[in-house]
Amino acid sequence: MNYDYDLFTIGAGSGGVRASRLAASFGAKVGIAEESRVGGTCVIRGCVPKKFFVYASEFGEAIEDAKGYGWQSGDKSFDWQTLLQRKDAEIDRLNGIYIKNLKKVGVEIFQSRAVIKDAHTVYLASENRHVTAEKILIAVGGRPTKQLDVDGHHLTITSDEAFHLSELPKRIVIAGGGYIAVEFAFIFNGLGVDVTLVHRRDQVLRGFDQDLRDYVMAALGRKNIHLKMETMIEKISFVDGQRQVEFSDGKIEKFDQVMSAIGRHPHTKELGLEAVGVALDEKGAIKVDETYKTSVDNIFALGDVTDRVNLTPVAIREGVAFAQTQFNDNPQIMNYDNIAMAVFSQPALGSVGMTEEAARATFANVHIYKTDFRPMRNILADNDDRMMMKLVVNGDNDKVLGCHIGGHEAGEFIQLVAIAINAGLTKAQFDATCAVHPTATEELVTMAARSD
Ligand code: NDP
Repeated sequence: MNYDYDLFTIGAGSGGVRASRLAASFGAKVGIAEESRVGGTCVIRGCVPKKFFVYASEFGEAIEDAKGYGWQSGDKSFDWQTLLQRKDAEIDRLNGIYIKNLKKVGVEIFQSRAVIKDAHTVYLASENRHVTAEKILIAVGGRPTKQLDVDGHHLTITSDEAFHLSELPKRIVIAGGGYIAVEFAFIFNGLGVDVTLVHRRDQVLRGFDQDLRDYVMAALGRKNIHLKMETMIEKISFVDGQRQVEFSDGKIEKFDQVMSAIGRHPHTKELGLEAVGVALDEKGAIKVDETYKTSVDNIFALGDVTDRVNLTPVAIREGVAFAQTQFNDNPQIMNYDNIAMAVFSQPALGSVGMTEEAARATFANVHIYKTDFRPMRNILADNDDRMMMKLVVNGDNDKVLGCHIGGHEAGEFIQLVAIAINAGLTKAQFDATCAVHPTATEELVTMAARSD
């Protein structure tokens, strides 16, 4: 059978682009369809613009900190339009690089919605034509779950819109307690917005180590972000040009924006999956085996659309394993252990390996080493932000099972600790490493006393 393509990929985000580029570099004839912009969630409306917003929002505090070191500054003001324009220009540049890199290895790009018609046929809506492929890869990612399931939910924005607001709101309420809610609460707060965080539980970031959750709750409080824990939004209405929000605690308040950050869901609707027999789970995620094969032999899926570990570097690695296995005769099974994570709160969080709770549920003898201090940089700055570090150790063999850090640049630090934890190093080997002084992370190799 002669197909138009060896591989046709639907979705040009982190996973789809990496798989397509690599497959093409191995000699496959590859086409890729993208209905939005090449680069996907991470580059266009996720990690990358978010990180620019994080940097922008940290400068206000840095200007204040500098005063403690003798720097004088006049009135500080922030211009939202400048940030948007500069962020958009950089996103345009990255989008161009992604397109160029795909074309360089011969991947044909279609700016179109794609729908699967049968196991080997894809319909390209904007061209009103069909293409055929020996293998199809679905890498369409996820979308924000907007539905708050309350009257007036249409008055909310999600992270998608937060990147393009024509004006910076004066007051915002953010619903949710996950990565996005926490990161945007600190972002808007740092930019001078009055922020309320409303969450149905007593703490944010369920699933993270308890000490990190305590740390971030304290940081939210220090920055004067209004916390409405164990509270839900019950109704939103448009009153006098503002969004009037009724909360489950009986309070009614007005905001310029209401942001819903209550999770993301796989973008599998109207892709033609049911008709062709691709099995989905109850959340609409595509079910795959360890080689990313769906219930249809020649159709594969990876990244957030499979709703497993929804992180960009994971999708990229899955793309590599898929391309190596299918197009380079080099079978690879990805290892999902010890994937490090960062939450860009302020200060940030970094986490790798087991939480204390998970370790105690798995091993009989768990040792905990932790420290909490005000980092040197913050002392002259009169900044109350703290730093915490925690090592979770298997007491039977001394192996470090997990590390959790809260503090400025914790995202950078955790990348390095992840190497040691992935290498299976012991606490004694951490301690045998000479400290770098004076740094905050020297604590990682000098924590002598157990705190469990
Ligand atoms: P998360 O899944 O992280 O968090 C969703 C939050 O919304 C949880 O606190 C959840 O509460 C709450 N929630 C869910 N449903 C409802 C509801 N009906 N009403 C009220 N609250 C609700 O989702 P995010 O949107 O924050 O992020 C999506 C994913 O994107 C993340 O899981 C992560 O994989 C990725 N991401 C990663 C980042 C990073 O690496 N730094 C940054 C941003 C996103 P509960 O805990 O009770 O379930």
